[in-house]
Amino acid sequence: MSEENTKTKIALVTGAGRGIGKTIAESLARDGMHVICVSKSASSCGTAADSIKENGGKAESLAVDVSSGEEIRKACEKILEEHECVDVLVNNAGITRDNLLFRMEEDDWMDVINTNLNSCFHWIKAIGRPMTRKRWGRIINISSVVGLTGNAGQANYAAAKAGMIGLTKSLAREFAARSVTVNAIAPGFIDTDMTSSLDDRIKEVALSTVPLKRFGKVEDIAEMASFLSSEKSSYITGQVFTVDGGMVM
Ligand code: NAP
Repeated sequence: MSEENTKTKIALVTGAGRGIGKTIAESLARDGMHVICVSKSASSCGTAADSIKENGGKAESLAVDVSSGEEIRKACEKILEEHECVDVLVNNAGITRDNLLFRMEEDDWMDVINTNLNSCFHWIKAIGRPMTRKRWGRIINISSVVGLTGNAGQANYAAAKAGMIGLTKSLAREFAARSVTVNAIAPGFIDTDMTSSLDDRIKEVALSTVPLKRFGKVEDIAEMASFLSSEKSSYITGQVFTVDGGMVM
């Protein structure tokens, strides 16, 4: 095995304070990576990183508001002073601000686009250069099935998630010659804080569209992220993996 392959890989997971991102961070740490846990609040990413360390893994935390390109650029400068390169980037941080279009405020549109989509542009631009120079890397964008199907009441969110898919496919082509793969995961309905606040009627309707007849677990997404971060997925790029119990076929 080359020296490069035995070095501890550095992973950065956004939205690692809770839900899907936290479980992805734990999973990559179990895979032997040093994980930089990013979230908006210092306490949530700090707790996530502490829990990884208590379980014998390597982690650190950084509070960054990913809706701000300026904050992301500053964070990346700091990270790249300490680490030569980030090997695995998981763009997971996301929010919803649902409403029908005629009732949607411009702020609700902009907040969702900035947090879910523009953040990916800023992280990849800052972290992708050393990654491509090193000629090994994994970029995983957490999109959504609604980025493939659309959803009434979620025009802002669906546009951001569809945008992440276009970004994924374009950058897969740009970075392929450098052995940096870029893939997206499109989760269906996963049991997290984001979905727990929905009313029971909406949950019932959502469940009726899932052939496997259960909501997804955060681990279902983390397993896919772990595979896409590994050596095992080296011949896969530009793909969107739906992990949704069969909702979208
Ligand atoms: P969640 O439980 O609401 O957690 C969201 C995470 O994102 C939190 O750690 C939060 O930070 C972070 N975050 C939000 N805004 C941020 C900002 N401006 N700057 C930095 N961090 C920010 O969400 P989830 O359900 O795990 O969803 C994770 C991703 O999967 C999202 O992109 C979501 O769109 C996508 N997804 C989820 C589902 C689902 O059913 N749950 C389905 C499809 C796609 P704090 O901890 O500091 O608040």
